[in-house]
Amino acid sequence: MSETSPKLRAELEGIPTYKPGRPAAVDGPTAYKLSSNENPYPPLPGVLESVTAAATSFNRYPDMACAGLMNELSERFGVPLSHLATGTGSVGVAQQLLQVTSGPGDEVIYAWRSFEAYPIITRISGATPVQVPLTPGDVHDLDAMADAITDRTRLIFVCNPNNPTGTVVRRAELERFLDRVPGDVLVVLDEAYREFIRDTEVPDGVELYRERPNVCVLRTFSKAYGLAGLRVGFAIAHEPVAAALRKTAVPFGVSQLAQEAAIASLRAEDELLGRVGSLVCERTRVVEGLQAQGWTVPETQANFVWLRLGERTADFAAACEEHGVVVRPFPGEGVRVTVGESEANDILLKVAEVFSKAG
Ligand SMILES: *Cc1c(COP(=O)(O)O)cnc(C)c1O
Repeated sequence: MSETSPKLRAELEGIPTYKPGRPAAVDGPTAYKLSSNENPYPPLPGVLESVTAAATSFNRYPDMACAGLMNELSERFGVPLSHLATGTGSVGVAQQLLQVTSGPGDEVIYAWRSFEAYPIITRISGATPVQVPLTPGDVHDLDAMADAITDRTRLIFVCNPNNPTGTVVRRAELERFLDRVPGDVLVVLDEAYREFIRDTEVPDGVELYRERPNVCVLRTFSKAYGLAGLRVGFAIAHEPVAAALRKTAVPFGVSQLAQEAAIASLRAEDELLGRVGSLVCERTRVVEGLQAQGWTVPETQANFVWLRLGERTADFAAACEEHGVVVRPFPGEGVRVTVGESEANDILLKVAEVFSKAG
């Protein structure tokens, strides 16, 4: 055998691999997975039916244009078809956004800590990540992010609400920031948790996009709509950007099962958003419970809470696991816990109470 191996791009070296939230153990005491911000509700019967029906023809390729879904989205959001692009989850679309804007020598700005996919997909594109620390209150520092723009900046992610802290940026500060971004830099508003927002001062990215050709909104069916396992998300952006996304899509990436499930979910939106409402009530209960125990929790508008535990992060995650709940630790920083089934949330509150007394 030859001693040499195929030459791979140097940019790939040292890129961390995406860490998925750990699953709940099947046979141990662990019963609840609160580590991936998934929706705890099982699929709606009607949505499940549409997927089952589509499953009878998976010997065929899906509709490559996602025409049915695109039409639904166009009507639902009041945007032209030419401003839409679908993809394999919004992470898939985000990766395409880098592909169409950025390469070696270019810079991509995002807050840190934020969504762990940003550094990975940025470095895969060959571009240079520019990470701007969150404020001490765990919020995007938009002034510092605007200050970080250079001639080489091509794309800026604003994760609103931010994963993993749950914090938001509000209308006035976001508009002031967008006014400072040059028109040739793409601003991506990642709104994966949009449906969980109750703060009326948080703008809908779709409204901001209408007036600003350099704004792209990312949405997903994975969280509020409960389709994480089917991989479908989309972007709303002006013509050149959306067209570039459609051009770079992996052919047939979004399965017919995913397309049908997304269409059925949009048609069952009232019921699904009712479930989101229940999760938001649970969120309030969890946050208030933690605060009553003396915890400082950043104000979350997403389906998770952030506990800045520092050096105690690993111990807290282990304690949760002992009681049957898997959370998402970020070693040395904190723990992100999804708001899930009320029994799971109860366990979290119990563990947190014991832990706050011990600490
Ligand atoms: C979960 C999440 C997504 C969505 O991922 P999908 O690929 O659509 O499943 C995107 N952005 C953020 C910040 C997320 O937390």
